[in-house]
Amino acid sequence: MKKLIIANWKLNPSTLKDAQALAASISVKAKNKVVLCPPTIYLSNIQYPNIGAQDCFWQEKGAFTGQVSALQLKDLKIKYCIIGHSERRAVGDTDEMVNAKAKALLAQNIIPVICIGFGTTVEHDDLEVTDILKSQLDVDLAGVDKSKVIVAYEPVWAIGTGKNATSEHVEKISIFIKTKYGVPIVLYGGSANAANAKEFLEQQNVGGLLVGGASLNATDFNKIINL
Ligand code: PEP
Repeated sequence: MKKLIIANWKLNPSTLKDAQALAASISVKAKNKVVLCPPTIYLSNIQYPNIGAQDCFWQEKGAFTGQVSALQLKDLKIKYCIIGHSERRAVGDTDEMVNAKAKALLAQNIIPVICIGFGTTVEHDDLEVTDILKSQLDVDLAGVDKSKVIVAYEPVWAIGTGKNATSEHVEKISIFIKTKYGVPIVLYGGSANAANAKEFLEQQNVGGLLVGGASLNATDFNKIINL
């Protein structure tokens, strides 16, 4: 079955030319479904079948300097938008904001990719992870049509560190999120790469991957999307 692989380029690359070259080097006929999420400033200049944004604001328009609305993303034919990434939460995004962003996106028929996760060390995964994820999701998904969102489970200790969660742990969490909330697709994110992606994609309830660092290397990313 096709899985969903979302590339989060974060604040990379540094020029539009490099961003266009990277997009052009990603297969458009991969085995899995692929979404590229370049930096906002490049969104209208990247050609790829499925493009996503990395964040948005919850208001449609007005005096909100520096923000980008879901309405503007829709105008650019953006189909997906990551919200609640731990790097956004680290600079102040709250679950209430994530909830408002999810609603704004759904109002424009853009699929929210809601990132949840916590923990500074792998040991945190042995704690009552589900209690903490529940406290995030209860707010993130309040009043939201859960059948229309994607959730990305990203243990914070695994993001950009070269250390990944085990596929068994991720499968268990994916089952929890799907059954408790009725969310159709749960992705894993956290140092996924060409060497470890297969074991996650083989898990029945893991719907795919949110890939940061490894999505910037076309060779590695093409391997992942063709697994
Ligand atoms: C991410 O940014 O969502 C992510 C998972 O990054 P990385 O793959 O680099 O850990």
